[in-house]
Amino acid sequence: MYKTTIGLEIHAELKTESKMFCSCKNDPDEKTPNLNICPICLAHPGVLPTINKKAVESIVKVGLALNGKIGNPSKFDRKNYFYPDLPKGYQISQYDEPFVVGGSLNGVKLTRIHLEEDTARLQHGADGKSSYVDYNRAGLPLMELVTDPDIKSADEAYDFAKELQLILRYLGVSDADMEKGQMRVEPNISVSKTDKLGDKVELKNINSFSAVKNAIAYEVDRQINALEAGEKIKQETRGWDDVKMETFSQRTKENAHDYRYLPEPDLPPVEISADILESLKIEIPELPAEKRRRFVAEYGLNESQASILAADRYLAAYFEEANSEKEKATPQLIFNYITSDLLSLVNSAGLGITESKISPAHLASLVDLAESGTLNSRKAKDLLKRMWDTGLSTEEILSQEDITQIGDEGVLMETILRIIDDNPKAVEDYKKGKEVSLKFLIGKAMAELKGRGNPELLKKLFLEHLTK
Ligand code: ZN
Ligand code: MN
Repeated sequence: MYKTTIGLEIHAELKTESKMFCSCKNDPDEKTPNLNICPICLAHPGVLPTINKKAVESIVKVGLALNGKIGNPSKFDRKNYFYPDLPKGYQISQYDEPFVVGGSLNGVKLTRIHLEEDTARLQHGADGKSSYVDYNRAGLPLMELVTDPDIKSADEAYDFAKELQLILRYLGVSDADMEKGQMRVEPNISVSKTDKLGDKVELKNINSFSAVKNAIAYEVDRQINALEAGEKIKQETRGWDDVKMETFSQRTKENAHDYRYLPEPDLPPVEISADILESLKIEIPELPAEKRRRFVAEYGLNESQASILAADRYLAAYFEEANSEKEKATPQLIFNYITSDLLSLVNSAGLGITESKISPAHLASLVDLAESGTLNSRKAKDLLKRMWDTGLSTEEILSQEDITQIGDEGVLMETILRIIDDNPKAVEDYKKGKEVSLKFLIGKAMAELKGRGNPELLKKLFLEHLTK
């Protein structure tokens, strides 16, 4: 029986106004190459970096949220290596005094979380001979989280990465979109029959959550099969091919000391005062795990329902606001209306829940009526659609309907009497048994009412009057 051991290295781009060490705009989506650049992020001689305060605050918040120890002081180091996407010939990163040491998430221990700068983006020409470098991304603030080798399966790794993404979004420090490269997950994997760890393989270019699962599962199988066949596992970096669904060898692993880390002489160590630490703590919102627990306890939802809501903090907030506005409705029914009917309207309009045209209070009042049985579910769904289209509340729509109906009865009778006076021939014909004349009279009345008359009510009133 083989034991799988997985550790994760996760990079996430932090959402700040400017880059990590200069005032260039932090815009990873910028399409025009080399627009957001300056002598500092291009590493011209003689320039000096300055530390982005917001980036430091962001990583400290992540550390606090994950119960890590905040390094105080903490310092930057140069990680020396050459690659065309690295203008300085070294990356400003952190070595022995990172901003965060330890902590845990989903029961997985964290080794550290540090702050560094992102590299430029390389684009290789179709001719296979040329390469382009876009420095817009060079120097963006990047956090790197490293876990202990605590993870036992592809599923656990997937859950960890998902939960981290959610926490980064709750904290508002990163959008952490894997498809956009804002979050990059690099698992290292080894299998062993004994307690001694096997040689590990690091996986790169995994750019979706499903690929996290697939790549690890593939690699675990590959290593077990190799060992079973009497081969030795090479310590190396392997890429993930999303089309072939397999890993492939990229290069043998460099050792950490190859980077010749040395303290960054142009940046002072960073001390975070107790006051700042306290104010950052206050800014940390309720985190997803706590929210899920509370939604089960407070609203009686089941765990999967609580997870659906907690997966989007704005959706969770909408649900809570609707609950605080409701009278009779159960949280369960509010959950149902939000997740099925409302979300389908929101999604098909291509909007987010915060842009919903139905406010939580309006939704609550509708679900109240549905709960009390005043509205059947079909009528409630109809109303929801009309609330979406008009932006009106349930009461406003219903009272408008009432007014038209009550008002109509008066208006209808007036119209009916006039039509009868004006069309004595049709009235005669109907009284002689010509059914089609009734339709003619109703049609006349409907035309006069510009189609707004209730046809059934019209017929009933005509009949009452004509048989008198
Ligand atoms: Zn710059
Ligand atoms: Mn890194």
